[in-house]
Amino acid sequence: MGWSCNEELVRTLKFKLEPEDTESLDLLREEFRSCYNQYIKLTRDLETTDRRTLEQQEVETDLVENTRQIALETAAKAVENYFELRDVQKNASYPRQKDTPMTATLNHRDGYTVEDPSTVKISTIPYNRVKASITGRREDQIFLRKALNGQFQFGTADVLKKNGDHYLHITIRTEEVPEIQVEQDNTFIGVDINESNVMLTAAKEDGEILDTLYLDYNKLKDKRNEYFTKKKRLKKAGKWSILEKLSAKEEAATQDFCHKLTRYAVRWIKQFDNPVVVMEDLTGMTEDIEYGAKMNKRLHRLPFRKLQQFLKYKSEWSGVPVEYVDAEYTSQRCPLCGDSDNTTRRSHRFKCPNCSHQDHADRNASINIAFRAAATFETSHDTDSVVPSPKNFPSFRRVRLTAAGLSEQADPSPRTTT
Ligand SMILES: [Zn+2]
Repeated sequence: MGWSCNEELVRTLKFKLEPEDTESLDLLREEFRSCYNQYIKLTRDLETTDRRTLEQQEVETDLVENTRQIALETAAKAVENYFELRDVQKNASYPRQKDTPMTATLNHRDGYTVEDPSTVKISTIPYNRVKASITGRREDQIFLRKALNGQFQFGTADVLKKNGDHYLHITIRTEEVPEIQVEQDNTFIGVDINESNVMLTAAKEDGEILDTLYLDYNKLKDKRNEYFTKKKRLKKAGKWSILEKLSAKEEAATQDFCHKLTRYAVRWIKQFDNPVVVMEDLTGMTEDIEYGAKMNKRLHRLPFRKLQQFLKYKSEWSGVPVEYVDAEYTSQRCPLCGDSDNTTRRSHRFKCPNCSHQDHADRNASINIAFRAAATFETSHDTDSVVPSPKNFPSFRRVRLTAAGLSEQADPSPRTTT
């Protein structure tokens, strides 16, 4: 929820609420749940998520009109997500009706308003507006002030409750997405996201490789496998409510982890002159038969998309443009001789059968990704894009991100060659 894949930038600001009336907020979340549940039931009874059909149905609710519409949308989306997931995940289940008050999403103006940097008003039911003072991180307060000054637009806000306290997560938007400046001396950051690591290589148009960052998240993979086994056991035993809680916990931990990893990556990226983040275009990958079941499994089991989306949104919020390149042959191609028939890739080693060039397989992919973009934006050639040839292969360091504490931990050993 802290990110968006639209062509606009969305940021979530988190605040703790000190409402003058806590009960009303509980009631709001309770009413949102009731409304959501009715729509979940309707999608099932009518076998549709068509918004117009659902709008025509009567639901019993005290929510303000706008908030009711969001409850409908939330329910319809949950069902659509299920249909999408069902094709790749055998154990996906139809969204269940919630049995506890849920997070209520509100529209700006009708649902909530920000009165000043420390006060909000929230429309609860029945048509009652609750005033609350808000406190949050300094960074979020700065962005809230900017939004109040008109630099950003207010989006929806979530009212949620954690450990007895209410929170308001306000989204703000801007449509100013940073764009790549072709006349600049750009640094292309090729990003290769794998099962157990994210590999980033910074390269110049002329083939100079500045540095590679190896973010190792093997521990997260282990943790997710652990969750997977536990969940399978709970499913077998039919312990649905524990299963749901465990899934939510896993989701939150993954989300948190992805934030930490991408934050670390963006800090590293920003040290270079005019960085441009380059990632593989994975859209359509799930439909592509050639990638097959194995790739689908890879895409869905690990937070690939989440990492991509977080990296995109964090880069763009830092003013770093993001570009996508074709994902074909990025791991098989030899950057030195251009050979891409390398079918003998074994484990973590890339070996070119043609010119015998060797490298870490994932670093090799990140180089190809960076150079592919460099070719597209190369200024010296007007027509034919020429993929540069690397001039050097500097050694790189590995940074481990652990799942338990999700702490960053630099490898104690000095920089090592691949
Ligand atoms: Zn080669």
